[in-house]
Amino acid sequence: HSVSVDPITILTKLKDECATPTPLLQQVADAMCAQMRAGLAADGGSGLPMIPTYVHDLPTGNEKGLFYALDLGGTNFRVLRVQLGGKDERVVATEFEQVSIPQNLMFGTSEELFDFIALRLANFAAKEDGRFHFSPGRKREIGFTFSFPVKQTSIDSGILIKWTKGFAVSGTVSPIKDCKSSDLTRWEPPALSRPFLGKDVVACLNEAMIRQGLHMRVSALVNDTVGTLAGAEYYDNDVMVAVILGTGTNACYVEQINAIPKLQGYASSSGKMIISTEWGAFSNGLPLTEFDREMDAASINPGEQIFEKTISGMYLGEIVRRVLLKMAEVGGLFGKSVSQKLAIPFILRTPDICAMQQDNSGDLQAIRSLLYDKAGVESNLSERKTVLEVCDTIVKRGGNLAGAGVVGILQKMEEKSEGLIFGNRIVVAIDGGLYENYPQYRAYLKDSVKELLGTEKSNNVVIDHTKDGSGIGAALLAASNSMYK
Ligand code: ADP
Repeated sequence: HSVSVDPITILTKLKDECATPTPLLQQVADAMCAQMRAGLAADGGSGLPMIPTYVHDLPTGNEKGLFYALDLGGTNFRVLRVQLGGKDERVVATEFEQVSIPQNLMFGTSEELFDFIALRLANFAAKEDGRFHFSPGRKREIGFTFSFPVKQTSIDSGILIKWTKGFAVSGTVSPIKDCKSSDLTRWEPPALSRPFLGKDVVACLNEAMIRQGLHMRVSALVNDTVGTLAGAEYYDNDVMVAVILGTGTNACYVEQINAIPKLQGYASSSGKMIISTEWGAFSNGLPLTEFDREMDAASINPGEQIFEKTISGMYLGEIVRRVLLKMAEVGGLFGKSVSQKLAIPFILRTPDICAMQQDNSGDLQAIRSLLYDKAGVESNLSERKTVLEVCDTIVKRGGNLAGAGVVGILQKMEEKSEGLIFGNRIVVAIDGGLYENYPQYRAYLKDSVKELLGTEKSNNVVIDHTKDGSGIGAALLAASNSMYK
């Protein structure tokens, strides 16, 4: 490679293309709001999926008994049990286990994946201690958190629309059933995963549990945003929006039934329903670069989940790597020869760029060793400063855009509420490894919310980190939908 473009020139262009001035963020918020409205009007149009969850009521606090939750949504799989004691005692005891999902299962068949889950659940259920009390003769009930886009027709069934976040589990011999092909036309899944689409994920789990001889029942199917909303609202009634910022991203919120034209004729006693926006699919007006486009083209779901690819944890490190690789290839960053390692996709991960941004030493020694260990490059101080600026540029764009998305949801809620949203305290519960661990990202998200809403309105908007609320939330929803109620 010949040195033709100075890394600083590339950096300047990158900053320019990734810039998120207030008018751009406002446009993103407005577009998010408009896409939500379009998605509520009809399926298969140009709007966001806006998936009805069939959750009408959030936990009351009166839930009692032993309930299980299991959570499949990304790099990890979690099983949890909780003993609920009602209004006074609340959560009496909880216990959980976390298992990382073997890479091969992310590309295997649905039977292999669900057998793995059922087996771990069976092992876990076999270890209940004296803090947990179960009524004999009943089946243990589970809240199943499945964090991929699912088309639900009831609280305890749903068909997978598409895999995201690097999963591509294929189907088995069973043909697509119980779903109309029109449900699937909006999303073009990768060919590999197509056979699994259209299967009821609850049925898949139930069948796997039967194969494992496990007598449990799924009472609620939710995604992690809904679990997080329910879990957070259990402790604070003002929680009305939940956002996940982890490997992937999604958001849900409490919508008025009469604002959901596509559910015309459907009634719920509360007049409300939680809607899963599937905002990862959003793509309007985002400030994207050649690096985003190339990463998207190389992904297993090109053209899809563009917002997710711009703001979530799976991708931030990879975008930075692509920028650094170009700087190395055409700008001689890190010396004359280009490190082979730096050319490996996903060799730099979001936790790495996060760690680099926490380096407060004058000569950036932590960045130096991280770059050497992960990407195999030697760096001088000025190169490390450039790296830091690249990280900051990508993370600022991500955090600011996530904040604009939150404002878009609040604007949508405000439409039907006649001043109730911005006039009152409202809590946005956010969970996920990216939000939890990346202080700069959190700050950039909050900055843009404040900037877009102004001081007065934003004082009423509480952005709260809810840690692991989704498991308890799913168990609470299993309790409120218990077959023994
Ligand atoms: P998942 O979304 O996979 O269910 P998490 O919510 O725990 O699980 O999120 C994991 C993601 O969070 C990782 O893929 C990574 O992108 C991000 N993450 C984890 N640790 C850190 C960290 N220290 N700094 C920045 N991001 C992190």
